[in-house]
Amino acid sequence: MGYEHLQLERLIPEQIYASLNKRSIVYIPLGAIEWHGLHLPIGLDSMTSHGLCLRMADKVGGLVMPPLYYGMTGSIGHHPWTILLEQESTFLAIIRDTLNRLEAFDVKLAVVFTGHFGKRQLAALEQLNKDWPRESHSMKLLVLSINQCPEAEMKGDHGAIFETSLLKQLHPDLVQMDKLPHQKAFPANDPDGDSWGPHRRDPQNILFGILGDDPRDYDDKKAQKLLKTICDWFEKRVLESIE
Ligand SMILES: [Zn+2]
Repeated sequence: MGYEHLQLERLIPEQIYASLNKRSIVYIPLGAIEWHGLHLPIGLDSMTSHGLCLRMADKVGGLVMPPLYYGMTGSIGHHPWTILLEQESTFLAIIRDTLNRLEAFDVKLAVVFTGHFGKRQLAALEQLNKDWPRESHSMKLLVLSINQCPEAEMKGDHGAIFETSLLKQLHPDLVQMDKLPHQKAFPANDPDGDSWGPHRRDPQNILFGILGDDPRDYDDKKAQKLLKTICDWFEKRVLESIE
């Protein structure tokens, strides 16, 4: 069965009430529009967070907002097909307005889950997470970032093995590994084995715009395990919040 029945924007009021009466949770998936290398779609972060939120709603209950494709800018903000926000105030205003409306509908828990985890994105969300409980709200807020699962076997990256693995598990049709040069003929040329260095920001590099370990080392078993580990952690955090 698909997850369409868990996507808020597709539902009529009767369906929304029926679902939220069982479990009053709304998930808000966040992401970005960014260059992720030749093999990945620019909206990866949002599609990954949306996919994970839908799985969580299916398992724990609740409904999922459409993903936000606007995220905070960072050091890769100038890369091609990268469209990010320059102001924290713009970003937070959208999230705040969403949270305030959900609270007005008596939602008990909002889960903000970000698939985009640049420094400024995380700092803005951290501020929100700190401020929210200090204000008087009836709705609880849980803020999570995909790169913060302590049990994950891979470190969060940008278009590299971590992001490639998760998207390939969630949307195999959206990953086109054959668009990257063949690994044997064109191995990653990382000085001192550093896959995060400035050379990866050089448009002439084989893995231009990919920060982290070579995505061509993709392994289906490891990717499956990574997805499961992150889902288990996500579920635990949501269940803790509704206790
Ligand atoms: Zn990404």
